[in-house]
Amino acid sequence: MEDDETMRRDMIDPFGRAITYLRVSVTDRCDFRCTYCMAEDMTFLPKRDLLSLEEIDRLVTVFVEKGVRKVRLTGGEPLVRKNIMHLVRQLSRHLDSGALEELTLTTNGSQLARFAAELADCGVKRINVSLDTLDADKFRQITRWGDIGRVMAGIDAAQAAGIAVKLNAVALKGFNDLEIPEMLRFAHGRGMDLTVIETMPMGEIDADRTDQYMPLSVLRAQLERQFTFSDIPFRTGGPARYVHVAETGGRLGFITPLTHNFCESCNRVRVTCTGTLFMCLGQEDAADLRAPLRASEGNDLLSAAVDEAISRKPKGHDFIIDRRTKRPAVSRHMSVTGG
Ligand code: SAM
Repeated sequence: MEDDETMRRDMIDPFGRAITYLRVSVTDRCDFRCTYCMAEDMTFLPKRDLLSLEEIDRLVTVFVEKGVRKVRLTGGEPLVRKNIMHLVRQLSRHLDSGALEELTLTTNGSQLARFAAELADCGVKRINVSLDTLDADKFRQITRWGDIGRVMAGIDAAQAAGIAVKLNAVALKGFNDLEIPEMLRFAHGRGMDLTVIETMPMGEIDADRTDQYMPLSVLRAQLERQFTFSDIPFRTGGPARYVHVAETGGRLGFITPLTHNFCESCNRVRVTCTGTLFMCLGQEDAADLRAPLRASEGNDLLSAAVDEAISRKPKGHDFIIDRRTKRPAVSRHMSVTGG
């Protein structure tokens, strides 16, 4: 206990929140182009701007030494980064040592069939798979070209490898809101949790977000006509708030950055594949960690840059989606930080 407290003292933000959760976007590239996430014609970063896998390992290790207990790899699509399993294998040493409680990832599932067994072997126990529909045609439409069969094969492989899968669906009005009951039954029938997420105004996309925005308070009321929910205190270290669904016996999570601001319990920061640290998903302020990382072989400069950045972590975000607010709240796409 005392050790934990000593470590945590290293990263306490100005509002007294301990930073124990690091999300790492290992690439900005993705093999899908979900319409609410990216424009069709995205310009990706030149490879030379990316941190090497060794540099990402060094960066994560500094955060682990400073009290981070949970690391999530994300993207872009984390499993399309070349040699990604080398990084996962390297990072798993922090699980072995007990310094890290959880190493996990958020994936679109397209490459999971290839990697599931190795992920499990590296100590990955739970993953989030993003899936917005069960319908193959709608899936192709929302991802612009994705094949749902590959995602399903990925989910099968993950479950066969003993990895717990949680499905994440972005709630999109007129696209999947009426399908959520079916997705709930599917997920719970397969022993998976399901979490629904409000669309966040991040980055210019080709569509109008006001048309897509579905407040989860409305979705919840719709679902409660068919299902009986009871609020439960279950947490996974993220922002989701869960209910138990009496009819299916499973858990449903709600991530509500717009209708209910969850910043007061924020324990996380995000680093991009270029080593930029974002202290809040919904703000532009950031700190460059690549320069201090590359400036010396030791980690003192990097550690000091992290401390300085944490001292600037804002109280929260103020996402707004309405017809008068045409510009996104933050200009970068979700694929920069990976959610
Ligand atoms: N490629 C991986 C995946 O599909 O999970 C990881 C990166 S993806 C950006 C992470 C999550 O962010 C996905 O669940 C995606 O649906 C979600 N997402 C993307 N843009 C979003 C937005 N504007 N609002 C809410 N969620 C978004």
